[in-house]
Amino acid sequence: MEGSFSGRRALVTGAGKGIGRATAVRLRQAGAQVVALSRTQEDLLGLQKECPGIQTLCVDLGDWDATEAALSKVEDIDLLVNNAAVAVLQPFLEVTKEAFDRSFNVNLRAALQVSQIVARKLIARGAAGAIVNVSSQASHRALTDHTIYCSTKSALDMLTKSMALELGPYGIRVNSVNPTVVMTNMGRLNWTDPKKAGPMISRIPLGKFAVALDVPVITEIDDVVNSILFLLSDQSAMTTGATLPVDGGFLAC
Ligand code: NDP
Repeated sequence: MEGSFSGRRALVTGAGKGIGRATAVRLRQAGAQVVALSRTQEDLLGLQKECPGIQTLCVDLGDWDATEAALSKVEDIDLLVNNAAVAVLQPFLEVTKEAFDRSFNVNLRAALQVSQIVARKLIARGAAGAIVNVSSQASHRALTDHTIYCSTKSALDMLTKSMALELGPYGIRVNSVNPTVVMTNMGRLNWTDPKKAGPMISRIPLGKFAVALDVPVITEIDDVVNSILFLLSDQSAMTTGATLPVDGGFLAC
């Protein structure tokens, strides 16, 4: 896989931490020009230090106008990873308007907005492209206290299919990865308690969460990043509109 992204320009959202950061580094290592977008400047500065040559963009994707302005400065993009998301956990009866709006704005609306911007430019220059939306196993299964999160990811899966339908004729493929728990900041926050993690792992046929090594130790055994890179690459040239579980079999059983 290394070297196979030479000459391609990639944009990764939520690249300050976790899966997005690892994806940005791996794409750079594989020869792509990478624009890493995130919300916290400190994270982006650290990323640039760790991986020289990465271009960074600091913006809050929950802010439509700021996102539009920030992305207007970015040159043509061939590969897009809509990875940024928030996980606000609240019991259904206590869901707030603020949590609902914030979650849908970042997890769904931003994916739509950023994809529109990238796809319009691809179509204008007659270039093919690939987009991967980072969804979740939670798009298919209800999880306690995850009402809003599950709903945003479910909607993201349908956005993936709708985009695949309308962008396919232009040679733009759109797929999603749907991981199980990954021990990033988000994963640790929600799944460190063995009382919660145990029952979840017991429902995963492979008996474990997805592997992600903390930066700066990024290696090729990162389960989710490997699947993202596959869906961005020409090795999946005939795949679009798919939601690829990276879940150890959770959704199949
Ligand atoms: P992290 O919380 O570790 O990292 C998320 C990154 O996205 C951070 O850099 C964060 O920046 C950035 N981000 C969040 N909100 C915004 C925003 N409004 N504008 C710009 N950047 C933003 O999450 P993960 O790496 O774990 O998750 C990545 C993706 O994987 C998400 O889509 C998540 O839903 C999905 N996923 C994760 C799972 C898990 O168990 N970890 C399981 C299944 C799916 P900052 O910290 O500065 O806010």
